[in-house]
Amino acid sequence: MNKLEHIGIAVRNLDESNKLFARLLGVEHYKIEVVEREGVRTSFFKVGEVKIELLEATRPDSAIATFIEKRGEGIHHLAFDVSSVEKKIAAFTEDGFKVLSDKPMTGADNKMIAFLHPKSTNGVLVEICQDKGS
Ligand code: ZN
Repeated sequence: MNKLEHIGIAVRNLDESNKLFARLLGVEHYKIEVVEREGVRTSFFKVGEVKIELLEATRPDSAIATFIEKRGEGIHHLAFDVSSVEKKIAAFTEDGFKVLSDKPMTGADNKMIAFLHPKSTNGVLVEICQDKGS
C-alpha cells in the first residue's frame, strides 16, 4: 500500500452532509459524482493528503443503503492507494484475503478499485485504488 487515499463515510443525505463536513473540515467538497453501478452518489473533500468521500445511496438495494440500515451512518471504508489494483487482487487472494472482485472495477474519482471483504480484515471494509490516468 502506498498511502491512505481516502476514508469513505456513509451518509443518509449527501447535501446536508456536504454542508456539515464543510463546516467541520473548513473546506468545500470539490466534486460530486454518481457511480450508477454501485447505486451511490459521492462527494469528495480534500484535507491535506487525505480525501474524505461521503456516500449516499441512490436506490434501496445499494450497499450503502444496506450498510446504513444495519449500522447507521458512519465510517464505511478505508481506501489505500496502490500501484496496481490488478496485482494486489492476485497477491491478496494468494495471501488468503477475501477480495470481492477478481478484476479491478471502475470507481469514483477516476480510479480503478477493488474491495476486501471485512470478514478477512477485522471488520474493516478495505478499498484498494489506483489512478486510471487521463
Ligand atoms: Zn472509496
